[in-house]
Amino acid sequence: MAQDITSMEQLGTILELTKDELEWKESQISVPLRITAHYAGLIDPHDPHDPLRRQVVPTSKENQALETESDDPLAEVPHSKGQRLIHRYNNRVAFLATDICPMYCRHCFRRRFTGNMMGPASQTDILEAASYLAKHPEVKEMLVTGGDPLTLSNDQLDFMIASFRKASPHLIMRICTRYPVSQPTRIDDRLVAMLKKHNTAPFYLLTQFNHPREITQESIKAISRFVDAGIPALNQTVLLRDVNDNADTLEELCNSLLFNRIKPYYLFQGDMVTGTADFRVPLKRGLAIEQELRKRLSGLAMPLYCADLPQGGGKVPLCGSYIEEAPATDTGSWKIRTLDGDYRILTDPS
Ligand SMILES: *Cc1c(COP(=O)(O)O)cnc(C)c1O
Ligand code: SF4
Repeated sequence: MAQDITSMEQLGTILELTKDELEWKESQISVPLRITAHYAGLIDPHDPHDPLRRQVVPTSKENQALETESDDPLAEVPHSKGQRLIHRYNNRVAFLATDICPMYCRHCFRRRFTGNMMGPASQTDILEAASYLAKHPEVKEMLVTGGDPLTLSNDQLDFMIASFRKASPHLIMRICTRYPVSQPTRIDDRLVAMLKKHNTAPFYLLTQFNHPREITQESIKAISRFVDAGIPALNQTVLLRDVNDNADTLEELCNSLLFNRIKPYYLFQGDMVTGTADFRVPLKRGLAIEQELRKRLSGLAMPLYCADLPQGGGKVPLCGSYIEEAPATDTGSWKIRTLDGDYRILTDPS
């Protein structure tokens, strides 16, 4: 079996590294260099601009920090309840099961935390989060995230899930993982059978496919294991410059996801995270792509274009305002823009 790549020297044996890549310096806020053998095998070694390469091979652009960027733009630290629990929205929480990933994305938005090598949440962290859930019945959903939670063993996950479901039996859990992209063979029948034991509330699988070439036969098999077991799969794509910032690539990605029973959920504008400016797409361009996609894709295949606003402003949809003019009184006529830039009048009943 080919090995995972963890150093530039190793990477240099399969790719001809560019000057920008060679000049990358690992720093406090960068995520480590780690590429799975599976994903490395998908990179075109002859294309220095390969969209898959861009997501996992660091460059010196990561070492540039802008004034407008922050290590924690989503204000997760001030919203933390204990070591690993983030309670930002009233009815749902995120639990950071680990900071470790099998492969690190250069655009990672949680880089203040990801890859610090702290490892899985301790039993104390888990039991503390469970008692928080027991005291907060308004919390209906939990995102089990990180890092990548599937770096935990099935037994570790079993203990964690059992603790949370015991505290809150009807808690819906989202398993947020990039394993279907980075190392799909991790997802085996034993993992899914373990999840199925905890059947007092549903699980959802949340993946991050950013490019159609990431959807391999192995990925499809991994996703099928979940979906066949009654665990629906949804995808969150990050809009990334020179990776997927054009309507053709995203159209192909979304249609292929849908065909493989993965519902495109969000298309995220890149967060204002330190060292990721090279990946961000100007909003005007993002909105134009969104508008073009909405013409080409079905409602099922269309993700919601969203930004998680800086300084903890939260998630907001970015789908242009189609309302051109609102009536002066409570009811009346509304001028609405069509996707083609025409206008129609919607009249309220009097
Ligand atoms: C994004 C996010 C959620 C989930 O939000 P949805 O819009 O329901 O997908 C929950 N908690 C935190 C901290 C988040 O960042
Ligand atoms: S899988 Fe998620 S947490 Fe891990 S590096 Fe990628 S974006 Fe960050």
